[in-house]
Amino acid sequence: LGRDAKQRGFVPPPADEVARLTFLGAAGEVTGSCFLLETGARRVLVECGLFQGERRALERNRRPFAFDPRGLDSVLLTHAHVDHSGLLPELVRDGFRGPIRATRGTQDLLGILLRDSAHLHEQDAAQENRRRLRRGARPIEPLYTVADAERALELVEACEFDQELELGPDLHARFVRAGHILGAASLVVRVRSGHVERTIVFSGDVGRQSEPLLHPPDPPLQADLLLLESTYGDRDHRDLAATLEELAQVLALAARDGGNVIVPVFAVGRAQEILHHMAVLEDEGRIPELPVFLDSPMAIHATELHRRHGPSFACEPREPRQLAFCRTSEDSMRLNERRGVVILSASGMCEGGRVLHHLRHNLWRETTDVVVVGFQARGTLGRALVQGARSVRIFGETVAVRAKVHTLGGFSAHAGQSELLAWSQAMRAGGTCVALVHGEPEKRAALAARLAGGAGAIWQPKRGDRVALRRLGEPVGFMPRDRTREGKGAHW
Ligand SMILES: [Zn+2]
Repeated sequence: LGRDAKQRGFVPPPADEVARLTFLGAAGEVTGSCFLLETGARRVLVECGLFQGERRALERNRRPFAFDPRGLDSVLLTHAHVDHSGLLPELVRDGFRGPIRATRGTQDLLGILLRDSAHLHEQDAAQENRRRLRRGARPIEPLYTVADAERALELVEACEFDQELELGPDLHARFVRAGHILGAASLVVRVRSGHVERTIVFSGDVGRQSEPLLHPPDPPLQADLLLLESTYGDRDHRDLAATLEELAQVLALAARDGGNVIVPVFAVGRAQEILHHMAVLEDEGRIPELPVFLDSPMAIHATELHRRHGPSFACEPREPRQLAFCRTSEDSMRLNERRGVVILSASGMCEGGRVLHHLRHNLWRETTDVVVVGFQARGTLGRALVQGARSVRIFGETVAVRAKVHTLGGFSAHAGQSELLAWSQAMRAGGTCVALVHGEPEKRAALAARLAGGAGAIWQPKRGDRVALRRLGEPVGFMPRDRTREGKGAHW
């Protein structure tokens, strides 16, 4: 370990350890993925995710990192979703200068997602500052700016799947396919010290076997330690074929009624997936050809990116025959006069974006169908619709809900419980120890119960807990965070 890193507060692992891993986020929660790996010669951050959700989670984004970003050698990123990547601009602003390694698909998606995230943070700060100005309070800085995001993007180095990367004299990594979204990977990291080698697998977000567009997840077969996501650790998803049948029925009936179909979508991934399914249903003659409008600049950008990445998918992404893009807000407003059309618009939980205008114009009509194709968090407008609200508030106005609201449960980018068990089966059979991450406490506890009984231990780490990869004896040891010995300098 160089003198520079030591000055920055990094201490090499003790002599009996090959490496040490610290859980800094996604530990008992689904956001803020962040793991610090320290070997004898390198300090690598795996993921650098934004905390999302309620106010208290958001405040955590503003706290200083628990390590000095200037002392890190590199970052490894499994995929582009901001709960895995969204603090990269902050990391760079705080002095990180090393490479950020990710697959090509992830690099391209980051260009959309990090710029958008930075733009939202700038907007939020500007809005908050208008309020502060009025009450005579001091203005705040945005969490980070578009310029910070641009600097982070410049550090990204695109890597190929299944290619061995040398990260240092004692450290190698490889990206393997995880399904989930374009470019998403699991990571196989090998640490060597003398003739001892230990392997850590980071699952990233594991996708589904049945998803038609993406290559299915390619699970590693062996590891000493596995960090396994547990987002849906407690249940299986509805069957995709049944969900598509439901979608076909809704669209066919809507075409007969002549009303509009509003589909709130996440701009990246889900929007392209729904377009593909609609194209296939059209080709199979299960739905009539309908005018389809994609009304979200970010979703349009992501769809164009999917077109460019066509060959890297399991099958070429398809689009409905009458698909049109609404690039400008004028294009979007013109839809107010249309009937008998399908509108895909963001945001996916109806918390902002152009979809709110379409809901205001259409929710009160009986002929409207709203098709919910994604997860709706507690407290969102989307959740209120799913729960059968008779009226909702949009832009300060009460809007009656006479539209039919359909919740289609089978679209998920995450493996369900059985799929997670199958994905980790070979490693578990070989005695791999598992640290369950990226899941709410009850979900990961449910998965832990299903995984129990093998040779390797199952842990449910909290933030600040560590795992040691040892040279001799038990290869992996869990070290709960010592909360009694923490000084003022500890930021968790
Ligand atoms: Zn993800």
